[in-house]
Amino acid sequence: MRIARAVHGEATQEDGRRLFERIGEFLTDQRLPPSPTHYAFAYRLFTDPDGQLARAVEMITERGVRLTPRDILTLNADHDTADTPVDVKERAEGLVARTQMQVEGFADMVTAMRAETADFGRDLAASAEAMSAVGQPTRQSDDAVRITAAMLERIRIAEEKLETTTREAKDLREKLEEARDNARRDPLTQLPNRRAFEEAFAAQEGAGGRMCLAVCDIDHFKSVNDRFGHAVGDRVLKAIADALSHSCRGHLVTRYGGEEFAVLFTNISLEKAQQTLDQARGKVQAKRYKLRDTDAPLGEITFSAGLTPVLPGEMHQTAFHRADRLLYAAKSAGRNMVQVGTTTPGEKYR
Ligand code: GH3
Ligand code: MG
Ligand code: MG
Repeated sequence: MRIARAVHGEATQEDGRRLFERIGEFLTDQRLPPSPTHYAFAYRLFTDPDGQLARAVEMITERGVRLTPRDILTLNADHDTADTPVDVKERAEGLVARTQMQVEGFADMVTAMRAETADFGRDLAASAEAMSAVGQPTRQSDDAVRITAAMLERIRIAEEKLETTTREAKDLREKLEEARDNARRDPLTQLPNRRAFEEAFAAQEGAGGRMCLAVCDIDHFKSVNDRFGHAVGDRVLKAIADALSHSCRGHLVTRYGGEEFAVLFTNISLEKAQQTLDQARGKVQAKRYKLRDTDAPLGEITFSAGLTPVLPGEMHQTAFHRADRLLYAAKSAGRNMVQVGTTTPGEKYR
């Protein structure tokens, strides 16, 4: 069954029974168990046949490729409207951007005011000096000197206040920048996160640059955690993140999630990207990992990767899906390798 046909059509006018049947047909066709997650996913597809989620599904399934439970998880995360609504994220982003603009506008205003009061203060000080230098003081000139001195004092106080406010505005601006950065960085590895990856992909796409995408996944990582504990697993993750960043410098290495890294290579050939990734793979494999306390060896750690060129105008989900399938082909073929391709591997790799 082509998803395109099932998704389009008169799904929105269907009565409940027909909708239920369609969902059932879809799940059977895709060989997805009718779990609440899969059912809810299919429900969203058929009740919004022209939505982004439906378009993403159509793209993935266009050559008869079936969805996996993992695809459902990825697509749910990308298109979720219930738990992490995109518009809420965008609203928050907009709010931060507006606040930042206000802070910047305010800081500029304060700087301009400080410059003005400084000029004014200098003029007053010069007048006071001139008055006291002019021979015999009169009552009027005494008054003028006193008033000027009072004005100078007020200006000094205002200057101090403005200085404090300028500092506070600067602190606030730095905190906002830090918050923006934190939202795009993974705290364990200090790598940019999935959100940063998606933004970089969109920016690069907009600029019309040439891209290759790799999805890397640590081999048998669960067993590292099981044998040595989660803290050791965390250190291994960090070591692999560092090795990847080092080997792929100049390109964007991100922690996409869990023990998976997405690397966005820009403006290099697929062959060069493959060489770079293979070098990283060799380095990770060659490293001797040890327990900190006892120096006992952890054994060999390796990763597998799927690498694919990004086609012009392609959405990140589509390219990621292809790279992810290639990664699974690498896993099926024995792990510790980079599988390169321009098309999505089919069923045989599952
Ligand atoms: P495969 O070669 O097929 O990828 O096997 P695997 O064991 O690596 O894959 P699986 O998906 O079964 O397990 C992934 C493990 O990664 C399970 C999870 O606990 C671990 N993991 C994910 N994120 C972290 C993390 O931040 N720290 C640690 N220590 N472990 C993590
Ligand atoms: Mg994994
Ligand atoms: Mg793994």
